[in-house]
Amino acid sequence: MSRGFHAFFRQYYNLRTLLRRTDPDLSRLTAVPDYPLIDAKGRTDTFRGLPRTPPLNALAFALRSPTFKPRDLLRLDARAALPLMNVSVPETYRRLDHLDAEEFLARLRFPPAARHLAFEVFSRSFFAPPDRLSAAELAVMFHLYFLGSSEGLLFDVPNVPLPGLWTPLGEHLAALGGRVRLGAPVGAVRPEPGGFAVDLDDETLRADALVLALDVPGLRSLIAASPALGTPDWRRRIAALSTAPPFLVRRLWLDRPVAADRPAFLAAGGLAPLDNISVLERYDREAAAWADATGGSVVELHAYAAAGPQGEISARLLDRLHDLYPETAAASVVGEFSEWHADCPLFAPGTFADRPTVAGPTPGLMLAGDGIRIDLPVALMERAATTGWHAANLLLSGWGLAGHPLTTVPTRGRLTPPRLRRRAQTVPERSA
Ligand SMILES: Cc1cc2nc3c(=O)[nH]c(=O)nc-3n(C[C@H](O)[C@H](O)[C@H](O)COP(=O)(O)OP(=O)(O)OC[C@H]3O[C@@H](n4cnc5c(N)ncnc54)[C@H](O)[C@@H]3O)c2cc1C
Repeated sequence: MSRGFHAFFRQYYNLRTLLRRTDPDLSRLTAVPDYPLIDAKGRTDTFRGLPRTPPLNALAFALRSPTFKPRDLLRLDARAALPLMNVSVPETYRRLDHLDAEEFLARLRFPPAARHLAFEVFSRSFFAPPDRLSAAELAVMFHLYFLGSSEGLLFDVPNVPLPGLWTPLGEHLAALGGRVRLGAPVGAVRPEPGGFAVDLDDETLRADALVLALDVPGLRSLIAASPALGTPDWRRRIAALSTAPPFLVRRLWLDRPVAADRPAFLAAGGLAPLDNISVLERYDREAAAWADATGGSVVELHAYAAAGPQGEISARLLDRLHDLYPETAAASVVGEFSEWHADCPLFAPGTFADRPTVAGPTPGLMLAGDGIRIDLPVALMERAATTGWHAANLLLSGWGLAGHPLTTVPTRGRLTPPRLRRRAQTVPERSA
């Protein structure tokens, strides 16, 4: 799939392991050395040069931020902030999942200006407005990027269009004797003695085991169309999965360049509906070749948790581009594509306990994807990759075969007492 700009954070250990199967040096990823986060008043935060040691990284970020004054730090409700310092999975969900992220931040007395920058950026990256995102999910993010790891919020981006990462993996499978069928929706799955029957439009496949790695609407409708699969409780939990509001990705080919000092990526807070702007020729070789040849620019605008119809969001995104990068106001759009969907999982307050897990209720039946529960501090693409590895591991162990180690940031906060602290990066598979 290609949905435009994707950040591959350095903490995505399991996704990176997967990509190394066909790209051992991760040469298809390019570092974005820094990026600005800008708010409605034009105040800017950056991530370069922060100390790597938690919690100094978070403290230094807050202190050097123009939106976060030292007195704001003193006003923080330390007791309410404790769960942020002390994240552990799954306990944090038990403590915070009933709260929404907005309410949680209000209880912390987190300064509203800084909320837009640091936290709204996280919550909107989950495609949800802060009042519809579980506070636990937000706390795990904070742990993942600040207090649980030293890699911070810097990331790499693919220097090839996204299919350039997945196609080689498909070829790798084919070389091992696998068969990859694209554009072939599964209509239904039926349990059979010793396995499953998988109905495609033009053939029925027999399978010993299944990993259903669909997006939320796809999974819900496949299960609804497969009445004999799983147990009533499992089917109910899948039917209850919900999706976040729509997102819009708008990629524009402009007939003239953006200013030379525009960054590869800019994150926006409090500038709805805009969440970020990327300038593709800064990192994507195909876009760079086009920009070189034509003298134009390829820019991409993202709006998550869109509140309004597509046409209106689309127009307002362009207005934001013109405001922030005024040189684009005179540019003509010579090509464009848009992606408007509402299929990302919603991590609403109170939904963690019922979320389906990787192991299904029937032997050989697994789920994977970024909406599937795994009790590890991972999110988004890394959750998709980690649940996929875990599904494979469970199946392999059922056949008496060794699996693959999973690696995550520690599953407990660094600020917990040392005797409770787990430094483990490699997770014992059976307990994952
Ligand atoms: C605009 C945007 C920006 C994002 N940016 C980032 C980012 O910067 N960093 C990050 O980590 N994540 C980001 N994400 C999230 C990331 O894309 C997801 O976490 C990731 O794609 C989830 O992978 P998945 O395999 O679970 O699901 P998907 O990638 O959604 O794959 C599910 C697949 O199932 C297929 N399918 C559905 N139904 C059927 C069926 N019946 N039969 C066969 N196939 C079916 C779908 O066609 C789809 O290809 C972003 C997402 C969007 C939309």
